[in-house]
Amino acid sequence: MAGFDAVFVGSGVNSLAGAALLAKDGWRVCVLERNDWLGGAIKTVEGLTAPGFTHEVFSSWHPLWVGSPAYAELKPDLDRLGLEYLNTDLPTATAFPDGTSAHLSTDGAANVAALGEAWQRQFDQFMAGADIAFGALGTELWSGQGLSLGRKAYRQLGRRGLVEFAGHSLLSARDWLTETFDREQAHGLLAPWVLHTGLGPDQAVSGFMTQVIACALQLGGMPVPRGGGVRLVEGLAAIVRQAGGELRTEADVERIVVSEGRATAVRLAGGEMIAASRAVLACVTPTQLYGRLLGEADAPSLVRDAAARFRYGRAEMQIHIAMSELPRWRGDERLARTPLTHLTPGLDGVSRAVNEADRGLLPAEATIALGQPMAVDPSRAPDGSWVIWVQLQELPQQLKGDAAGELDTSRGWTEELREAYADRIVERIGRHIENLESATIARVVMSPADIEAANPNWVGGDIYAGSCALDQNLLFRPTPASPGHGTPVERLWHIGASTHPGPGLGAGSGWLVAKQLTKPPLARRLLSKVPGLP
Ligand SMILES: Cc1cc2nc3c(=O)[nH]c(=O)nc-3n(C[C@H](O)[C@H](O)[C@H](O)COP(=O)(O)OP(=O)(O)OC[C@H]3O[C@@H](n4cnc5c(N)ncnc54)[C@H](O)[C@@H]3O)c2cc1C
Repeated sequence: MAGFDAVFVGSGVNSLAGAALLAKDGWRVCVLERNDWLGGAIKTVEGLTAPGFTHEVFSSWHPLWVGSPAYAELKPDLDRLGLEYLNTDLPTATAFPDGTSAHLSTDGAANVAALGEAWQRQFDQFMAGADIAFGALGTELWSGQGLSLGRKAYRQLGRRGLVEFAGHSLLSARDWLTETFDREQAHGLLAPWVLHTGLGPDQAVSGFMTQVIACALQLGGMPVPRGGGVRLVEGLAAIVRQAGGELRTEADVERIVVSEGRATAVRLAGGEMIAASRAVLACVTPTQLYGRLLGEADAPSLVRDAAARFRYGRAEMQIHIAMSELPRWRGDERLARTPLTHLTPGLDGVSRAVNEADRGLLPAEATIALGQPMAVDPSRAPDGSWVIWVQLQELPQQLKGDAAGELDTSRGWTEELREAYADRIVERIGRHIENLESATIARVVMSPADIEAANPNWVGGDIYAGSCALDQNLLFRPTPASPGHGTPVERLWHIGASTHPGPGLGAGSGWLVAKQLTKPPLARRLLSKVPGLP
């Protein structure tokens, strides 16, 4: 049986970053991936629509990765391996149906001019507590560090301030936006971003998440790797290989082997065993971890039952378009230079579409996240042509009907329904980009069913690997019965988007667990504080 110090189940960004960090610390690691590509939600394909056109099939935007502690630590290696980030000063905009638009820039003064003084007030207020807010998203909350963060917040804010901070963090985006900004265009600019956190604008905590994103976009722009996300995957994989580790594709893990309460190996479909002498890290959802990979006797029924009740959120659709010309946007010329523009009537439009999806309906007017990666990285297609990446995050987990009353949904996600719904979306995009139809060379659409088939973590087409409602978020992610990353099985760690700090390319869970595993022993930590000792 092959043997490693640590074995990772799945090759999502949390596994790859965690594996690279452990490998750099001298661990021999093995990453096992059931698909024929490494990277999970990072998949760059040249020719997806037409030869010469490079598309990000799933995730596209890397602000969370570029702002992450994992990147800070691995950057020198990734730089050496040739990974290069490109960025913009115009990260996002919203284009409204009446042809007007609102824009967010990395220039604070420009944002104040566009959105009013309220922008500066909210920015300053958020940044005053940013170490606590970002700390909550980068700390193992149920741990000594979580406790230290709580103590720090208490010292910094006092009892009353801490209660106010906690209360404020629970606000919905609607309440936060309407209390903070007079201008409806400011609401419409920021409300769609709530969807990128797996929430809707009327849910608890969505106001906090909107603030995190609004400030992060001003501070960090919208970085993407030159050549696509695959460059990040290649860099992380090279770090692992150069340290003697292995990464295997088409290796479906069907069992985590537990012996005397400890994870000791994994078994692949087909029977091959791979031993793990120090840790197994599973980048899967609780449903798979407790319902497939572990045996019934391996975890208490309380934890298994909670995992079986783990809820999945709204489904998603992707549309990829190759254009033979640059897009001719109606309205503000900056729209052609903006990597991620939302098309929506505004806050109420997002709210309505979320509500329709939550009720099982295809939204009549879904919020369109329209990505233009070439606004940042022109290498993705031949000169003078263009690629468009579209994300729809308000599709129902259980499909029951069409809010517009036009499409037959009774046979589920057939090819016909997928293309007909995409037509509705493309027709709306065409109202903003006048040459869309005439310059389209090809398009590829992925329905929630296609998305689910690509990754067992995306149950029902939920790209965030589990609803991010408060009872499954932050302190309670993935479930209140097994929060954090430790599991009832010794040496088995749970990572990935279904665990804290949730979805996104920040690799937070991979980093948190790698840090716990490589933490020097207590005696060495105490000795390192003695002055004069090396
Ligand atoms: C369409 C889409 C667009 C997105 N856009 C963005 C974006 O632009 N920016 C951003 O920050 N975030 C984005 N996200 C979210 C972000 O990409 C994900 O939250 C993140 O990449 C998830 O990483 P992960 O480590 O949880 O693993 P995943 O990406 O879920 O990968 C897990 C891997 O494990 C494999 N696996 C599962 N079970 C097994 C098993 N038993 N044996 C072997 N292998 C197994 C799966 O095949 C998969 O490859 C997007 C997500 C999607 C799907």
